[in-house]
Amino acid sequence: MFVTRFAPSPTGGLHKGHAFSAMLAHDAARAAGGRFLLRIEDTDFTRCRTEHEVAILEDLAWLGLTRDGPVRRQSQHRADYDAALAQLREMGVLYRCFRTRKELMALAGVAPQAGDPIDARAFAGGPPDPADEAERLAAGQPFAWRLSLSAAAAHLGGFDHLDWIEEGEDPGRHTARPEALGDMVLGRKDIGAGYVIASVIDDAAQGVSHVIRGVDLVETTSVQRVLQALLGLPTPVYRHHRLLLAPDGKRLSKRDRAETLAALRDRGVTPADLRQELFG
Ligand code: GLU
Repeated sequence: MFVTRFAPSPTGGLHKGHAFSAMLAHDAARAAGGRFLLRIEDTDFTRCRTEHEVAILEDLAWLGLTRDGPVRRQSQHRADYDAALAQLREMGVLYRCFRTRKELMALAGVAPQAGDPIDARAFAGGPPDPADEAERLAAGQPFAWRLSLSAAAAHLGGFDHLDWIEEGEDPGRHTARPEALGDMVLGRKDIGAGYVIASVIDDAAQGVSHVIRGVDLVETTSVQRVLQALLGLPTPVYRHHRLLLAPDGKRLSKRDRAETLAALRDRGVTPADLRQELFG
């Protein structure tokens, strides 16, 4: 059975890029006689808002994209993600990270005041030494749980045998290369288990056969493939699609306040206009 999903985070209004992704997933499900699921990825309660979730449902209805089955909200499944984190911890592939962003940037050789948007994730700096860790734990310092790629590689006998079938922009068999993102945070100091692990658990729980999403998540797929191997979960087929660009050539993003679907609707754009623009 062909099962795919649209999995937005309710952190702002959806824009054309989301509409493109949702339409691709919906149309693929319909063409295959399969299912199109909606999953609300709201693990990050510091950024997610109910009003954005309500708007997402309105936007999808406006676009004419009918979903199958109930909406799944990640905030209602925290216990499952925590259980997976506990399982990984017992396998010895996670470590505590007490470092602040500033410390991580210093480790990476970047001055934090320079405002450089460098992604500090790839410079996790490895596990703390045991004495230091014990001291910090005793002092009640908050910490994140990171995936140790070296421990995961030892556990799995390397990553070269981990692959997935890609049907998107760069089709073929892809081998997992999780090193690009380094030892990623799977459990955050503030929210606990986050998107990277929640999404893997949910794709398996919902029987997702095809993950259709933007090519900006292709590196994350490598890490998610490692998690599937560690947790004994199936690997879906992936279709990473191109990203839509704003007139200035930058990719559309909520952060840069790309025009929302609600705003398009208000100025009289119809779903048919949008389909024409996006799919020609
Ligand atoms: N929640 C993610 C986002 O909005 C999508 C993740 C996915 O499709 O796997 O970017």
